[in-house]
Amino acid sequence: MSRILVTGAAGFLGSFLCDRLLEDGHEVIGMDNRVSGQTENLEDAFYHDRFTLYEHDVTEFIHISGELDAVLHLASLASPVFYRDHPIKTLKVGALGTHKTLGLAKEKDATYLFTSTSEVYGDPEVNPQPESYRGNVDPYGPRSCYDESKRYGESLVRAYRDKHELDVRVARIFNTYGPRMRLDDGRVIPNFMKQALTGEDLTVYGDGEQTRSFCYVSDLIDGLVALLESDVEEPVNIGNPDERSINELAEIVLEVTGSDSGITHEELPPQDPQVRRPDISKVRSELGWEPEVSLRDGLRKSLGYFEERV
Ligand code: NAD
Ligand code: UDP
Repeated sequence: MSRILVTGAAGFLGSFLCDRLLEDGHEVIGMDNRVSGQTENLEDAFYHDRFTLYEHDVTEFIHISGELDAVLHLASLASPVFYRDHPIKTLKVGALGTHKTLGLAKEKDATYLFTSTSEVYGDPEVNPQPESYRGNVDPYGPRSCYDESKRYGESLVRAYRDKHELDVRVARIFNTYGPRMRLDDGRVIPNFMKQALTGEDLTVYGDGEQTRSFCYVSDLIDGLVALLESDVEEPVNIGNPDERSINELAEIVLEVTGSDSGITHEELPPQDPQVRRPDISKVRSELGWEPEVSLRDGLRKSLGYFEERV
C-alpha cells in the first residue's frame, strides 16, 4: 500500500482517481479548495477509512505529516469558461500550486505526477500532435492563463527532475468527459448533454467544423495509473485519437439522448483551436495503454448521471 496525495480531489478527474487508488488498496489524502470541485464527487471515497480530505488552497504552503509515496497534482481550473472567469487563480494554481506540490514531493522523496494538457500545443499547426510538437500558443492570448501556466508547470517539473532528481511523470491530457462533470462546467459535452435533455437548442460555436478527440473518463484514469506505475519521465499524451467535428458531436449527442432539440450556432470564442487529436504512439508503445470506450458508448454510460442532474 502506498500513501498518495491527490490535489484537485473533488473535481471530475481527481475524484475518479481517488476512487481508483482506494480500490487498488492505497491510502489517499485528497486536497481541494472547491473553487470548481464538488464534495459529492467523493461520496464513494468517504466510505473508505483510508481516505481523508483536506480543504486547502495548494497555492499556499502545504503541510502533510508522515510519509508520502506519491503526489498527484490535478488541481487547476480546467474549463475554458472557468479559466476565462478566473485567469489569475488559473495562473496561480498552475505556477505556485505546482511549485508548492513539487516542494512537498521533494521533501517527502515522493514520485510526482503533473496533469498537463493538450493545450500546451495551443492552436496546433500539425495534426495529430506528437509529444515532440512544440506548440502554437499566444502568450498574451485569451487562453494563455491556462496554456502558459501548464507550460510553465511542465518546465518546473523538468527543473525539479534535473536539479533535485525528483521522480516525475507528466501526462498531457486531451479532452476527457464522463459523469461528475458539473452541469455548468461550460465544456462542450456537459453543455450539449444538458441542452439535449432539457429540450434546448445545442449551442455549436462557430461553424462547428473545429475538431476535438474525446476520451471517456475510465480510459483516462487507466492511462494515468499506468503512467504513475511506469518509469517514463518524459511527457506522454493521454487521450482518445477518435477525432470528431463539433457538428458530428452534436448529432451523436442528439442520437444518444433521443432528443429532438435543434442546433443553433453562436460566436466562436477567440483563438478556439481548430483541430486537436493526440498522437498516442508513445503511450501505446511505452505503457501498452490505449482507450477502449467509443464515443457513443461513453456518452451512453454518462447519460444516467446527466439525466439525474438536469
Ligand atoms: P475540475 O475542475 O473538475 O477539477 C479540478 C479541481 O481542482 C477542482 O475540484 C478545483 O476545486 C480544484 N482546484 C482548483 N484550484 C485549486 C487550488 N488552488 N487549490 C486546491 N484545489 C484547487 O477539472 P478536471 O477536468 O477534473 O481536471 C483535472 C486536471 O486535469 C486539471 O489539472 C486539468 O487541467 C487537467 N486536464 C483535464 C482535461 C479534461 O478534459 N478533463 C484535459 C486536459 C487537462
Ligand atoms: N463548444 C461548442 N459549444 C459549447 C461549448 C463548446 O461548440 O456549448 C466548442 C468549443 O468552441 C470548442 C469545442 O466545443 O471548439 C470544445 O470546447 P470545450 O470548452 O469543451 O474545450 P476545449 O477543447 O476548447 O478546451
